[in-house]
Amino acid sequence: MNLKYSFQISIVFDNKCVEEGFLPGFGFSALIYDFSTENYLLFDTGGNSRTLLHNINKLKVDISSIKKVIISHNHGDHAGGLEGIYKLNPNIEIYVPLANLAPYKKAFSESKVHGISELTIIGKNLYSSGQFGQHSIKEQALFLRTKNNEIIITVGCAHPGLEKFIIEAQKLGKILAIIGGFHGFDKFSYLNGINLIGACHCTQHIKSIREQFPNQYQRICVGNSFSF
Ligand SMILES: [Zn+2]
Ligand SMILES: [Zn+2]
Repeated sequence: MNLKYSFQISIVFDNKCVEEGFLPGFGFSALIYDFSTENYLLFDTGGNSRTLLHNINKLKVDISSIKKVIISHNHGDHAGGLEGIYKLNPNIEIYVPLANLAPYKKAFSESKVHGISELTIIGKNLYSSGQFGQHSIKEQALFLRTKNNEIIITVGCAHPGLEKFIIEAQKLGKILAIIGGFHGFDKFSYLNGINLIGACHCTQHIKSIREQFPNQYQRICVGNSFSF
């Protein structure tokens, strides 16, 4: 077991920036290695299976070692690659906002599909934020707790407002990092004190975030990995 790190997050789908050998695509997905269980989980699945599988394959990760897939919200650029993962490994457990449970249960009937409503433990040191937002589009974020009791947030599009997820995560501990799409988020004071701000995908105010947090802002490219 690795004593230094708790999790490694690799970006496997994004539309803003791509390292050589990886493919770009509209959407977001992060592959997370859990050093304590030596398993992988996938947060979102990008817009299509072909690009997602190419990028995961490039990292030499076997799809059968992915145990859990968390779908932030039911938009094609986040759920589009799930089918390809499911076809290769129906043994995954799938976590969706409760509002979307029925269609996912039907479409992925061989997998165990969980609908999440409130802040929920989904594994050791793994949490769903619970579903937030308007009925038309409910969204959850994933919280990882490190061995130093710090929290990493991965977020899909943050349609309900990124601050909702930040406030929920603060109930668990100090926030160390936040990675994903921030959408139109502009309440920048909520980012104070966060060491790594990895705004990507749909973030509209990347320039302002980079300027206001020059030391914390982290450029996020497909193929990059971050260990915590
Ligand atoms: Zn979306
Ligand atoms: Zn999106």
